[in-house]
Amino acid sequence: MIRPLKGKTPRRPAPKKPSSNQKDPVGVYCRVRPLSNEDEESCIEVISNTTIQLHAPDGIKANRNGEFKETQYSFKKVFGIKTSQRELFDDVAKPLVEDLIHGKNGLLFTYGVTGSGKTYTMTGSAGQGGLLPRSLDMIFNSIGPYQAKRFVFKTDDKNGMEIQNQVDALLERQKRDSQQSLLKTPSSKLRTDPEFSEMINPGETCKAEGVDEDSSYSVFVSYIEIYNNYIYDLLEEGPIDPIKPKPPQSKILREDQNHNMYVAGCTEVEVKSTEEAFEVFWKGQKRRRIANTQLNRESSRSHSVFIVKLAQAPLDADGDNVLQDKNQIAVSQLCLVDLAGSERTSRTRAEGNRLREAGNINQSLMTLRTCIEVLRENQMCGTNKMVPYRDSKITHLFKNYFDGEGKVRMVVCVNPNAEDYEETMLVMRFAEMTQEVEVARPVDRPICAFAAGRRQRNQAFKEELTRRLEERGGPVNGETPFVMNQLLQSFPPLPPCEITDPSDDHTLPRLIEVLEKRHRIRQMMTEEYSKTANMLKSMLQEFDSNLMAKENFIHEQRGKLGEKDKMIQSQKTEIDRLEKKSKMLEYKIDILQKTTNIYEEDKRSLQHELENREQKLQRELSEKKRMEARMQGMVTDTKLKWEKECERRVQAKQLEMQNKLWVKDEKLKQLKAIVTESKTERPEKPQRPSREKDRVPIKRSASPSPVPTAPPVRPPHRRSNSAGGERWVDHKPASNLELDTVMQPNIPNAIKVSAPNEKALSKCDKYVLTHQEVASDGEIQTKLIKGEVFKTRGGGQAVQFTDIETLKQECPVAPSRKRRSSGNDPPQTEAMDGDWTDVETRCSVAVEMRAGSNLGPGYQHHGNQKRRKP
Ligand code: ADP
Ligand code: MG
Repeated sequence: MIRPLKGKTPRRPAPKKPSSNQKDPVGVYCRVRPLSNEDEESCIEVISNTTIQLHAPDGIKANRNGEFKETQYSFKKVFGIKTSQRELFDDVAKPLVEDLIHGKNGLLFTYGVTGSGKTYTMTGSAGQGGLLPRSLDMIFNSIGPYQAKRFVFKTDDKNGMEIQNQVDALLERQKRDSQQSLLKTPSSKLRTDPEFSEMINPGETCKAEGVDEDSSYSVFVSYIEIYNNYIYDLLEEGPIDPIKPKPPQSKILREDQNHNMYVAGCTEVEVKSTEEAFEVFWKGQKRRRIANTQLNRESSRSHSVFIVKLAQAPLDADGDNVLQDKNQIAVSQLCLVDLAGSERTSRTRAEGNRLREAGNINQSLMTLRTCIEVLRENQMCGTNKMVPYRDSKITHLFKNYFDGEGKVRMVVCVNPNAEDYEETMLVMRFAEMTQEVEVARPVDRPICAFAAGRRQRNQAFKEELTRRLEERGGPVNGETPFVMNQLLQSFPPLPPCEITDPSDDHTLPRLIEVLEKRHRIRQMMTEEYSKTANMLKSMLQEFDSNLMAKENFIHEQRGKLGEKDKMIQSQKTEIDRLEKKSKMLEYKIDILQKTTNIYEEDKRSLQHELENREQKLQRELSEKKRMEARMQGMVTDTKLKWEKECERRVQAKQLEMQNKLWVKDEKLKQLKAIVTESKTERPEKPQRPSREKDRVPIKRSASPSPVPTAPPVRPPHRRSNSAGGERWVDHKPASNLELDTVMQPNIPNAIKVSAPNEKALSKCDKYVLTHQEVASDGEIQTKLIKGEVFKTRGGGQAVQFTDIETLKQECPVAPSRKRRSSGNDPPQTEAMDGDWTDVETRCSVAVEMRAGSNLGPGYQHHGNQKRRKP
């Protein structure tokens, strides 16, 4: 018979399970319970199967902390109010149970405020079994036929597992059975607790795949409560005295040789069926209830932890017994935790002593929160801060899970009731933060060093061998076997061995000889046979070990394949998730694109409008500038025109005034002359002609002629007589301008003088003065002032003006004569200075001058110096 090589491969290389480099975030699920009453206001809306939206109820100060009125939270999965217990189990706990059966640890806890459905989710009610009964059911459905007999596996005090031999196990079973029958109380279970069969509908059971049939399994459960940071064993033996209860003894936490935490001295009950396990659970529940009532505690303030421990070890080759090798035992555990209500102390009605308790409970959840925060920070920032697991019992107990000892999952329970809004918001934040923590993925490794299904294959091999031997002709029905026959035939035949003659000494020696020969052959054959047998044996052994190695290899490959499959699966789900996300993002991008387009269009049109307006503005500006320039031009033009006009008018006025003045002066002079004549006539003294010259122009008033004034004897007026017969004194002041007119005052036979003198006057009887002045239109006009010369009674001459002829030249544009005449001034003045030296003469000349120039007498007189200057 071929046996597996017992214990040849060491079971575990190291006591501590190494964790892989891969990490998974803590799986956080959210379950929304239905409102207890339809009238209640809801503050939660399930948006998708991964997101919920929280909205502040109307009365609540939504923005007190700058919060938005609506906040969204995403989770691995969200379970709405219609989710059944079965659906939740399939998603959340089933994978953990599968892990448990494959030797991996798991931690599952419910978190939320009191009344949010934690206990409902974990335990459930009749017909609505929660995660705990369903997990137990699945475990026993999977390992049911492969369970070891009771007490084969035995827990030690140090969180380890041992195997008892058959006999010891049997003895312990017998001992326990007799004890049980004695202790058995029919009312160990409260009738109010539903039976397991009432919890889950028969059609809803499920089973794990890939259970190793060549291993033997055993399930142990323990149930603890952590209250006020003390650990109590809920499965402790011994009846509770309902009248005078002993305060329960708290337990302490210890670390085993693999650095896993365990509750020292905690009861671990080996259970063989779901019903039994559930019964134990109810027992613990009952204990918890009683203790809480007796000690006046509030159960919502405590954490309850139900631990399912699964031990498995390979069977021996016959499949009869568990291999007696401690190293071959694999132990995995699943912790199901119903946490205390997460509400703040202020929410409890507790006072005094109970307030302190509440504070402590809060503290342990606070520690959980802090641990999660530090873990997250360490992972995100690469820091190595110490995680304060030891600050509370609950975190200390599960520290290994967060250090990569197994999967961690959390179900966040929420009550949509608006009254819970603020607490729920805190729960959501904690939950979101928890998802960011990553826990190392436990390595997928074969639990047992032996190939799965080896028992079956051994059986098959045995059967085949027997069959073949039979074919060759085994010892069927006592006949000589076929091989034996052949061997016998190869021996030398026996000689006849009948002895009839006593002296026959021939037969016996021959017989002896043949027999000896046969004996030798047999010996040789035996030797040969045993040699071949040995050879065959060693060949078989070799073959066997080869087979083992192959089997191991195949097993290993299978494990790897499984690992790869899982990886592919997880990657597929990841891809799915990413695809969904990318779709959503695409959609968002689409919307943003559209919005951008709209904005861009707006921008373009606005820009266009802006440009238009700018252009318009520019146009208006240039228009304005043009207008300004035009205005400026017009203003200067008008100014110039008016200036010219003013100047011209002033000049005209001046001339007019001068003329008037001159005429008046002239008249005055004549008057004076008359007056003087009448005075001088009476003495009638002879006059010196030389003196006459000085005397005549004495008069202050200016006169064009130096003619001595005498009362004129007015002759009859001879108008326009030809100048032929008379003699003329043609008086042309030196200041007169040469005009290029066609008509020139030209009198033949005249005595031309620039200043009148007596000598000339005495020879003539007519006098003409050529006088130039500027007319009102700015043109120079020449006036010929004519007069007649009379002999005064005193013997002198006087002139009486008779008429004036005017000559005028008109140009389209009248040039300014001012300069021309003023430019000629200096020589005139000089000439006069030479001819007329005394004051009177100069004055009289000044009058004449004035007639020829534009300047007034005062100006001429006083302004000589000034006029010379240019
Ligand atoms: P917690 O343990 O968080 O304090 P419970 O589990 O005791 O809350 O739930 C409070 C009440 O709400 C219980 O009566 C329970 O039956 C009910 N409940 C909670 N969750 C649900 C659910 N998903 N569906 C129906 N009823 C629920
Ligand atoms: Mg509860």
